Amino acid sequence: MGLLVSREEKKEDTVIRVGNATIGDGSLCIIAGPCTIESRGQLEEVAEGLAKTSTNILRGGAFKPRTSSYSFQGMGKDGLDLLSRAKAITGLPTISEIVDIADLSLFDDVDILQVGAKNMQNYTLLKALGKQEKPVLLKRGWANTISEFLESAEYIYREGNHNVILCERGIRTFETSTRNSFDINAIPLLKEKSHLPVIGDPSHGTGVSGLVLPVSMAIVAAGADGLMIEVHNNPECALCDGFQSINLEEFKLLENRARIYEKIRNFNCTSI
Ligand code: PEP
Ligand code: MN
Repeated sequence: MGLLVSREEKKEDTVIRVGNATIGDGSLCIIAGPCTIESRGQLEEVAEGLAKTSTNILRGGAFKPRTSSYSFQGMGKDGLDLLSRAKAITGLPTISEIVDIADLSLFDDVDILQVGAKNMQNYTLLKALGKQEKPVLLKRGWANTISEFLESAEYIYREGNHNVILCERGIRTFETSTRNSFDINAIPLLKEKSHLPVIGDPSHGTGVSGLVLPVSMAIVAAGADGLMIEVHNNPECALCDGFQSINLEEFKLLENRARIYEKIRNFNCTSI
């Protein structure tokens, strides 16, 4: 049987709206913010800086599934309260990662629920997220095929929640000079195979702050519906993923260029 998330089952693009942001309508939705919420000062400095740009959605992790159990695990509920404050100050809709469905009530004021790469095949979590109404951004596991990725999206979709966003965030290869290899093929391939919006995360996809800008341009050129970028007010001091985070100045350059690439790719050549 064909998957409900496939183009065969539904020809038209799925368009998702949260606050003033739209994902999947052909425009570029820029999601930006710190990997992890660390303090009120840190989050508000980043959020207020981003609010002066064309950022559409504010990100910030509060529940962090880390490789080492000794690493900072996020601020939990206190972090989500800070995200709520930042949303009220900036007017930006928000996204944050959920790792346990038992935490769902803490996410009342969060607009999009993120499922991290480590949980892409947590089918119990996916099914539970399919039974609630908030849009879900599903990240591809670093060792998962495109077909497994779509099968995971189906777990959410078939339960009744059709607001699913696919996020390519790099896969593990033999290369060791980057954290992951961003799979650029995945962007047009997912757009072809599925009607769901597709976004790219060059921060985790490279793991190198200096590569975030050029890889972002490739993602936009490849036709993605959005970008998710880790931005920190002081990347050197970040408690998580500082090496792949860019600062606000660097982000301004990135969003400027991304908007130009967006115009170019959406330009209707037949009108020349
Ligand atoms: C993140 O977005 O901060 C994150 C943990 O990403 P991933 O699940 O892709 O590793
Ligand atoms: Mn991160």
